[in-house]
Amino acid sequence: MSDGTHLSNFAGDKREWPVYMTIGNLCSKIRQTPSTHSVVMVALLPIPMKNRNIPQKRLYEQRQTNRKVLNEVLRRLLQPLTFKQNPSAGSGYYNILCADGIFRRCKPVLAAWLADCPEYSDLHHLEWHVCFWCVCPTNELGDYVHPDKEHPRRDHNLYRTLSDANTKAADAELSSRHVRRGFSVFRHIPCIVSDLPKPDLLHTMQIGILDHLQKWIFYCIMTHKRLDKYNAIWLSVPAYHDLTPKNKSYEEVSQWNGKQMKKMSRYLLGVVTQSLRGGNPAQHPIFNRAIECTQALLEFYMYARYKSHDDATMSYMEDALHRFHTFKGVFLLGRAGRKAKAKANALRTELVKKRKVDEETNAETWTSSKKRREMKAWRNYISHEIDISKELDADFNFPKIHLMSHWAEQVRRYGALQQYSAERHEQAHKTNLNDGWNASNHNLNYLPQVITFQRRILCFKI
Ligand SMILES: [Zn+2]
Repeated sequence: MSDGTHLSNFAGDKREWPVYMTIGNLCSKIRQTPSTHSVVMVALLPIPMKNRNIPQKRLYEQRQTNRKVLNEVLRRLLQPLTFKQNPSAGSGYYNILCADGIFRRCKPVLAAWLADCPEYSDLHHLEWHVCFWCVCPTNELGDYVHPDKEHPRRDHNLYRTLSDANTKAADAELSSRHVRRGFSVFRHIPCIVSDLPKPDLLHTMQIGILDHLQKWIFYCIMTHKRLDKYNAIWLSVPAYHDLTPKNKSYEEVSQWNGKQMKKMSRYLLGVVTQSLRGGNPAQHPIFNRAIECTQALLEFYMYARYKSHDDATMSYMEDALHRFHTFKGVFLLGRAGRKAKAKANALRTELVKKRKVDEETNAETWTSSKKRREMKAWRNYISHEIDISKELDADFNFPKIHLMSHWAEQVRRYGALQQYSAERHEQAHKTNLNDGWNASNHNLNYLPQVITFQRRILCFKI
């Protein structure tokens, strides 16, 4: 597993990309316990600082070079799994010294790789904003996928063949499948590449979909002028177990981390339900759908965190996802991006000009009450047209919303999802990196110091 992390809290210029390894035949409870040292750091790669002042072409070239370097480093790291270096390892079996002092015939296979979405894209040589499990078209990522009608799996053997062919036709074929040409280390070691990614509760839900949901709700609250009520209810959430009383309203919190999101998921539905209580008859169906959508997504998240599943919990989980997709349209306006907002602003300017012309033309004939009515009608018309314009250009087509449709299948094949959460990375970062960084002199040669510190601590603890 791998996950980029910041070492320096304030400057933010020291970023590292550690690679950790663990073995699959461990109880997940032991693997999740930091004191067992079940996860070992095997590489520590520095991440170069981002320079935003260079031309786009050079930026693209730099990213390509970074991907090549990354794959070359991983190739060296995973070379023992290719079995080419060990002639005695017939058919991939090794004599491996186990913890009890006995040699056993073992066949190490790379079974999973945990990372976040952009890292998967780089490691699998896929374009960003696509699913790394299946070939779902990018304009259908936001649609509900029925469990019996999943898209075909990605065929990395075919991608390897096309990439090695190095012809224009092969390149065009790769582009049509949103795959980049180049060397990907996973396609050269014995593993099923499309099975390597695993569901990640932290990146996909806590700082992914739940973060989006909060923004959609906030947009809905703002649109219906309920911000004061929302903030008042938010601040009134009482302390309960590990929930502390709030001293900041929602809009005053500048950044949310995974732990805060996890806590927030416990009271968000109550706050939203109370904030959207009442309203005029036109608002009732909107508020009800917003509450239903929030409830369905939070239910799905809660079921996904179960430590064990049976057929009943799986059906509840799939039903919650289906309900979320049924009601998510209520938040479509909150999905309007920069282009949609720019287009809506241009439309507003055009309509305001028309309103002024209408006002000037009828200035002499309109009475003051007639003018008030006409201006109110114009305001409603402009607002309605802008909403329609934004809705036409907005969609839910982003990868994280699609990844949730694979989770039920992943649970059936590999067990509960909690064991794959990147929260384990955060614990590993603390013991392997952050303590070493704090003990170093923070100078240019801090990396060897971090590694030496981590080795010493590990030796003492063992
Ligand atoms: Zn997919």
